[in-house]
Amino acid sequence: GDVDFECDTMVLGSGPGGYTAAFRAADLGQKVIMVERFPNLGGVCLNVGCIPSKALLHAAKVITEAEEMEHFGVKMSAPEIDIDALRGWKDSVVKKLTGGLVGLAKARKVQVVTGNGEFSSANTINVQTADGVKKIHFKNAIIAAGSSVSRIPGFPYDDPRVIDSTGALELRQIPKKLLVIGGGIIGLEMACVYDALGSKVTVVEFADGLIPAADRDIVKPLHKRIEKRYEAIYLKTKVTKLEALPEGLRATFEGVDGSSPVEPQLYDMVLMAVGRRPNGKEIGAEKAGVIVNERGFISADKQQRTNVAHIYAIGDICGDPMLAHKATNEAKIAAEVIAGHKVFFDAMTIPSVAYTDPEIAWMGTTETEAKAKGIPFEKASFPWAASGRALAMGRDDGITKLLWDPTTKRIIGASIVGVNAGELLAETVLAMEMGADLEDLALTVHAHPTLSETSMFAAEMGLGSITDLY
Ligand code: FAD
Repeated sequence: GDVDFECDTMVLGSGPGGYTAAFRAADLGQKVIMVERFPNLGGVCLNVGCIPSKALLHAAKVITEAEEMEHFGVKMSAPEIDIDALRGWKDSVVKKLTGGLVGLAKARKVQVVTGNGEFSSANTINVQTADGVKKIHFKNAIIAAGSSVSRIPGFPYDDPRVIDSTGALELRQIPKKLLVIGGGIIGLEMACVYDALGSKVTVVEFADGLIPAADRDIVKPLHKRIEKRYEAIYLKTKVTKLEALPEGLRATFEGVDGSSPVEPQLYDMVLMAVGRRPNGKEIGAEKAGVIVNERGFISADKQQRTNVAHIYAIGDICGDPMLAHKATNEAKIAAEVIAGHKVFFDAMTIPSVAYTDPEIAWMGTTETEAKAKGIPFEKASFPWAASGRALAMGRDDGITKLLWDPTTKRIIGASIVGVNAGELLAETVLAMEMGADLEDLALTVHAHPTLSETSMFAAEMGLGSITDLY
């Protein structure tokens, strides 16, 4: 049929990938249309991901810190949690950011078309808007349609007590007993929130450890701490059956070896956090000739081009790691390539952070990966028990580990566990991007006493020159 809108670049999706691409393309002089099925811009990250989870995790951190002030000789009374006010505060943070995007889009004359979009050819997309189907003609497209929650089939999802991360962030109630299925980053962040708010938490994970992608020595301090706080952590275990009963949700557990680690248990709420799947199969990609693999991913080259030269893919939909900062960095590349810039995505590493308590952060090559792939490395781990700042905070349960190339002494990886590990990691990411070696880290003057010194101390350990720990 007739075309309703024309543009240079059509961006499908308004998450961190989509809005970054749209804004960059507009800044580079393109006429841009951004298509988003939801009324709010910002995608998963702003609405039901990174931002609301961090708002609640901050509250969780303050609550547990207040509890633990007793060790300092300061006893605080138990917090009174006004769940509606807490939810309202979280929502207000989200609203500020998503509202901000509307302003940023207007300022750049990026047109937002609201509705579900499906490609109808390699140069057109049909959007199911409130006023019927609108056809957009584009010269270039950037697919930034993101990912959705994965589900284990056969569980009673119609029961409001079975929730996913989106439901957990809605904070409808604080269950007495919460089962978290999945011991990855998202499951553990939500476990951390509900534990602080007073739920008795059980975590069940299929792999033989929590946060499987991180090194075991780095995960250990987190495991030790939450083991004490939570009701139970079952590893190498899956939930084979979940029954919705009037008195609760009954979960049946089975060890990967076929054993039954515990009798079926009742929970007030069950959070499914077993991963995310890309939205590639729901966008009519085949009509545009774009190849989508069996799992729903769309592969892209270093310039973010798909198999169709004028159609690009960025963010969660084009592969792991599914992280907002991967999406935004790929977005800038796609927009710049469309504008004719000779650029490609060339990050040395994409950092990962679990905003648990303690936080876990890693970048570059992990020790596990180096061993598995036979990558030559040397390492040093600085225990925070020797950091004056960590001791002063009453949180010496951290480790800062560096990996370097034995020949060049250049940093090839870093893993940190401890308070603020996510912030601390940035220095090591910069070190790796700049090809820094152990001496660069060791000879950089770090303010004392800071947790940032732990990277310098680890580098000094590596050089065999550590003199003063405190
Ligand atoms: P998305 O954010 O998924 O956005 C895609 C957008 O496209 C959505 O708005 C969707 O509605 C829209 N869309 C899809 N299909 C269509 C269609 N056919 N028509 C119209 N619109 C469509 N990452 C981090 O880096 N740090 C974190 O701390 C972090 N925390 C997280 C916590 C949780 C609970 C979750 C679930 C995720 C978290 N993530 C985090 C991951 C992060 O949210 C994603 O990596 C990021 O949102 C990916 O951005 P994106 O632009 O690729 O896609």
